[in-house]
Amino acid sequence: MVENQEVNIMLNERKKYKMKVAIVTGASRGIGREIARELSSKGIKVIANYNKSEEQAKILKNENPEIDIFKADVSNRSEIKQMIGYTTKKYGKIDILINNAGISENKLFTDVTDNDWNKIINNNLYSAFCMTQEVLPNMIQSKKGNIINISSIWGIVGASCESIYAISKAGIDAMTKSLAKELGPSNIRVNSIAPGIIDTEMNKNINVNYIEGLKEEIPLGKIGKVSDITKCVNWLIEDEYTTGQIISINGGWVII
Ligand code: NAP
Repeated sequence: MVENQEVNIMLNERKKYKMKVAIVTGASRGIGREIARELSSKGIKVIANYNKSEEQAKILKNENPEIDIFKADVSNRSEIKQMIGYTTKKYGKIDILINNAGISENKLFTDVTDNDWNKIINNNLYSAFCMTQEVLPNMIQSKKGNIINISSIWGIVGASCESIYAISKAGIDAMTKSLAKELGPSNIRVNSIAPGIIDTEMNKNINVNYIEGLKEEIPLGKIGKVSDITKCVNWLIEDEYTTGQIISINGGWVII
């Protein structure tokens, strides 16, 4: 009897998620790929966006046939429009937007060129601005939505030699707070997840000794895994009363 009740609860949960549609930007690798997999495993229809890593996106599709992969440079509004058009034509709605795509670059502030500025701001901040603007008409019309922006601990505390990256992430957090206020009355929640150091390709060039030193500075004594971020995404999808928050998953490295 109890077992039957548990099975029914599980089936109802799956049914609830099955009706949801999510776009995850930058889902060919790292954090975005794991978020796409996790949402899809719950039964959510996932559009996994990629740009340069076609091979990896195809692997994601082969391993998870129910995921749609879509190539679009999210720093380009017309490519975003094509992706949103594809999604709304196929599914009629967008319930969840995960603005995850991002790049980083290490440079002294005095060496940063206008090109560097444009590249990082466009890939990290303009992309989230544009994606959000393009999904909003659909979310506002259906009077519900859940937007999760992946920012960074560096946007909170600043980053030496990654100042433009930090500026882009601080911009995302400001957008999160502003939109939470503006879109709350439309039943649209907007939150940021600001990771600390997470083990992905983005950090592949960081020196091993530096990473070991970092672990000593982090109270939990380890760097994060992509699953640490997906757990928070899961919670934000389940939750109904959190908006405008910057949730930093960082092992206690930065406590604000
Ligand atoms: P990653 O392994 O380097 O993956 C980055 C992803 O972003 C790739 O899938 C890439 O797709 C995509 N992307 C970049 N520019 C794009 C564009 N213009 N259009 C579409 N996709 C684009 O990085 P990650 O560590 O998973 O990082 C994911 C997010 O978390 C980023 O926003 C990053 O800033 C943030 N974050 C990461 C860490 C960390 O320690 N890893 C810490 C704090 C915040 P293609 O390869 O297909 O172009």
